[in-house]
Amino acid sequence: MENDKGLLLVLSGPSGVGKGTVCKALREKMPQLVYSVSATTRAPRVGETNGVNYFFKQKSEFLHMIEQDQLLEWAEYVGNYYGTPRKFVEDTLAEGYDVILEIEVQGALQVKEKFPQGIFLFLAPPDLAELESRIVGRGTETEDSIRNRMEMARHEIELMDKYDYVVVNDEIECACEKIQAIITAEHLKKDRQIHKFRKWLAKGV
Ligand code: ADP
Ligand code: 5GP
Repeated sequence: MENDKGLLLVLSGPSGVGKGTVCKALREKMPQLVYSVSATTRAPRVGETNGVNYFFKQKSEFLHMIEQDQLLEWAEYVGNYYGTPRKFVEDTLAEGYDVILEIEVQGALQVKEKFPQGIFLFLAPPDLAELESRIVGRGTETEDSIRNRMEMARHEIELMDKYDYVVVNDEIECACEKIQAIITAEHLKKDRQIHKFRKWLAKGV
C-alpha cells in the first residue's frame, strides 16, 4: 500500500439513487475531499456549469480523450459518454488528498481493474419504487430515459457484489455519516499507518 497517497473513493450506484446529492452533502462536511469532475457528451441541464458539474464535450472531443488515454475510465450510458480525466485524479492522489469519483457502475468496475486499491462504495436505493420516484421527481428525464435508467438499475444492483461497501441512501444525512465512517476506518487501516511507526523506531528514542 502506498501510504502517503490519498484514498481513491468510488461512489457508484444506479442513476437517481442520490449519488450527486450525497456527494454534495459529503463534500460540505468534508471540504478536504477532492471531487473529480467528469467529462460527458450529455447536454448541460438547467443550472449546470461547465468545469463545475461536468466538462461538457462534443462527441469528437470525447473520442479524442479516449484515444489519447486521458481517461481513467469511461462508459456509454443511456446514449451519452461519461469519463474520468486521469491526470487530475493521479496528481491529486499523489499530493496526498483523498479523491471521490461519482460514477456509474460500468466505469466503477473499470477503475477496480486498474486501481484495485480504490475503495468501492455502492449507494443503493431503499427499494426500486423509491428509485423510480426519485428519478421522476428530479424532473430531468424523458419517459424513455426513465425507463432505460430503471432497466439499467436492475443490472447495476446485481453487480453490488463487486463492491467493498453498500450504503443504503434512505436519509441523506445518515448515508453521509456512514460514508464518513468508512473513510475514517480506511485511513486507520494498519497498512496505511505502520510506516510512520517504523520510521520512529528506526530513529531510536
Ligand atoms: P444520482 O446522482 O444518483 O443520479 P441525484 O443525486 O440526482 O441522483 O438524486 C436523484 C433525486 O433524488 C434528486 O431529486 C434528489 O433530490 C433525490 N434524493 C437524493 N437522495 C435522497 C434521499 N435520501 N431521500 C429522498 N430523495 C433523495
Ligand atoms: P447524469 O446524466 O444523471 O448526470 O449521469 C448519468 C450517470 O453517469 C450517473 O450514474 C453518473 O454517476 C454517471 N457518471 C457521471 N460521471 C461519470 C464518469 O466520469 N464516468 C462514468 N462511468 N459514469 C459517470
